[in-house]
Amino acid sequence: MVIIGAGPAGLAAASALIERGVTPLVLEAEAQVGGISKTIVHEGNRMDIGPHRFYSKSDDVTAWWLSILPLQGAPSSDDIALGRTVPLNDAADAPDPSRERDVMLSRSRLSRILFLGRFFDYPVSLSAATLKRLGSSRTIRIGWSYLAARLHPTRPERSLEDFIVNRFGRELYELFFKDYTEKVWGVPCNEIEPEWGAQRIKGISLAVAIKHALTKAFRGDDSISQKETETSLIGRFLYPKLGAGQIWEAAAARIEQCGAALRLNAEVVAIDLSSGRVKSVRIRDTRTDAEETLPCQAVLSSMPVNDFVLRCRGGDVPDEVLRVARGLIHRDLVTCGMLVSKLAISNPDGSPILDNWIYIQEREVRLGRLVVFNNWSPYLVADPDTVWLGLEYFCQEGDAMWTMPDDEFAKMATAELASINIIDEADVLDHVVLHVRKAYPAYFGAYTEFDLVRQWLDTLSNAYVMGRNGMHRYNNMDHSVLSAWAAVAALIGEGTREDVWRVNAEETYHEER
Ligand SMILES: Cc1cc2nc3c(=O)[nH]c(=O)nc-3n(C[C@H](O)[C@H](O)[C@H](O)COP(=O)(O)OP(=O)(O)OC[C@H]3O[C@@H](n4cnc5c(N)ncnc54)[C@H](O)[C@@H]3O)c2cc1C
Repeated sequence: MVIIGAGPAGLAAASALIERGVTPLVLEAEAQVGGISKTIVHEGNRMDIGPHRFYSKSDDVTAWWLSILPLQGAPSSDDIALGRTVPLNDAADAPDPSRERDVMLSRSRLSRILFLGRFFDYPVSLSAATLKRLGSSRTIRIGWSYLAARLHPTRPERSLEDFIVNRFGRELYELFFKDYTEKVWGVPCNEIEPEWGAQRIKGISLAVAIKHALTKAFRGDDSISQKETETSLIGRFLYPKLGAGQIWEAAAARIEQCGAALRLNAEVVAIDLSSGRVKSVRIRDTRTDAEETLPCQAVLSSMPVNDFVLRCRGGDVPDEVLRVARGLIHRDLVTCGMLVSKLAISNPDGSPILDNWIYIQEREVRLGRLVVFNNWSPYLVADPDTVWLGLEYFCQEGDAMWTMPDDEFAKMATAELASINIIDEADVLDHVVLHVRKAYPAYFGAYTEFDLVRQWLDTLSNAYVMGRNGMHRYNNMDHSVLSAWAAVAALIGEGTREDVWRVNAEETYHEER
């Protein structure tokens, strides 16, 4: 049994197979497990390639995560310093993060938007403070345009622009969504399928945002699951003490202890088909270039689905399927880790900012999102008197940003951060630049014809795709885990292929009450 990819989906599939007495072979192209949820270590400082909230409406996923890294039994160093209370594990052997390594932390979430040099709530809440910062004429325009959108919504919704304007009005769309979304995707919002909005911001509308602003002060949903809360609004999430990748490294160690083989630096370069089945996969050792053919009974694949289709050999992949696979688009990411001695920005009252990340809405910089890793886990940072930042730039593999030499990139990123008064250039101590291919599967390009690929894949009797790029779906980690479990169930006859495709496509996965 071969699993392609040792990210969340691949490792969840391996663990589910082991539970059923099957020991798989896991093939991973990179030298490290975790996929895009991995954590890298630079000079003792740890960073996710993009920070990862662990949060799921599925109790099974949460329980699985906590079975790998148990919830903290004592507060973290920063919670003690700030006098914050967090839900603690009251089991006698619950780990103390200041002493033990394998701990899942419960974190308070704060993310805001930086716009016009000021902080706004994320998602946009129409609190009195927001309206004051926006000014009275903008506020009136927001109100009118919201009313206009509710009275005369665009139907049918043909694009992300229609989706957002219908829910928030044109004024808010232009202020808070348009530029940022176009920074992320590199194309105008009216060229993006409305389905993207349905997946990412379903359950949120201006009415919900107002209700949230009004009830926030009175509601006490401080639980881990926060099932009563829309995903974009949850106030608490789980996070491994040493970064998102810590859990995937622990999961990989566990499956190996149970007898599964995990081969790193093993890129699947060909999938050999015969009579509608995968009979073997060819792998390339990424260090030596040596190739090897491995026969297989069945394949569970989380590699990008377009690569999977285009690397199939020996079977007749229909031309239409090849055409759509070639036309699937991803958005790539360059992340710059930056160590600074201090931040220049603080809250209006002078207190330090506690944001996990900040959406940079400022139009004059290319920076998309700024992460403050200290606020994810104080244990990610080697020297607690320094601030470890992550600057996310959305781009396209091969474009000017992607190909910029690392030092030049760091210089540009430093200058941008200083230009919006977040740091002083003189306070930068170190930097590292990371390139992340296929960070985001795009809902444009050939995506509208993706069903052709799906229908053909479903004819392969012993192959199942799963995960984020594996299904070309904007999955979070929990969706990837759920799709992997569903793929294993389908493989062993406990479920269907339909169940796999249902993950993160149906209401139950959309976290809408
Ligand atoms: C910036 C950013 C922030 C995010 N934040 C969150 C968050 O807060 N919460 C959340 O839940 N999710 C978040 N996500 C999404 C999360 O990263 C993904 O849902 C998750 O990593 C997907 O897991 P996967 O196993 O499906 O795919 P991947 O993580 O992509 O893993 C696939 C694996 O397959 C390997 N592979 C690819 N091709 C081959 C090949 N040919 N042969 C062998 N191996 C191959 C890859 O190297 C990789 O290890 C974020 C993503 C990004 C980009």
